[in-house]
Amino acid sequence: QWIYLDGQFVTKENAKVSVYDHGFLYGDGIFEGIRIYNGNIFKCKEHLDRLYDSAKSIMLNIPLTYQEMEEALVETLKRNELRDGYIRLVVSRGPGNLGLDPNRCPKASVIIIVEQLAIYSEEAYKTGLKTVSVSTRRNVPDALNPKIKSLNYLNNILVKIQSNLSGAGEAIMLNAQGYVTEGSGDNIFIIKNGVITTPPCYLGALDGITRQAIIEICHQKGYKIKEEPFTLHDVYVADEVFLTGTAAEVIAVREVDGRIIGEGHAGPITLALLEEFRSIVDKDGVK
Ligand code: PLP
Repeated sequence: QWIYLDGQFVTKENAKVSVYDHGFLYGDGIFEGIRIYNGNIFKCKEHLDRLYDSAKSIMLNIPLTYQEMEEALVETLKRNELRDGYIRLVVSRGPGNLGLDPNRCPKASVIIIVEQLAIYSEEAYKTGLKTVSVSTRRNVPDALNPKIKSLNYLNNILVKIQSNLSGAGEAIMLNAQGYVTEGSGDNIFIIKNGVITTPPCYLGALDGITRQAIIEICHQKGYKIKEEPFTLHDVYVADEVFLTGTAAEVIAVREVDGRIIGEGHAGPITLALLEEFRSIVDKDGVK
């Protein structure tokens, strides 16, 4: 396995970063998770747009141009002879001193890791996930706007710990006002009487690329879709609930806080959207 580390290809054993890297010391950096399907870097432009937007927002100077970054992704895939899998692209502030001033970090570090991936079994897409809502609140837009895909995932990790303790596969996060925002690493959709609803990102959700793809599919296929705030009550009484994410794709939720959703397994609209999504994944991207 070859890992791209600041312009060099190194083995997994030799892929090391400095203990002075502010990504490590302070979580000062950004990242993307991207899928490769049949040699196609799915939604490459969208992921790179989000990466460069996140960088601009936190004033992080990515040492590669957009074009160079795309080439680095393609080259890393070639080196690893990978046609299906997952890319983790990380840009950290780079090595500095122990102070938190980013001006002391002369050069950002760029890391590209590619791996095989299967987070859920095919069975799980039919049975759906058991989930719980958690007490950790999602930040509403402030300095750390949830639209920035930063390396500060402690909030999400606390969420994961809580859902693990409850024996659930995923968690549902609310914001301080009690509106549903997203999962620990996925966006959420509910369906009631044929209407599909997802929370607006301003409530405190990452603007997921899979989320965008599903909204687009809904428009194309004539499903009623809206972005509107909703509460846990709406989730409990929904006919179907599903989560979307680069790794998870489109996965049904069968249970939330002990309430069974719909029939207790993946519903027909969720499965139809998963099928539609899977039919475009090796088309829309960079080969
Ligand atoms: N929400 C959070 C907090 C995430 O980390 C992710 C994963 O990237 C998502 C949502 C889903 O976004 P995407 O579909 O771009 O993977």
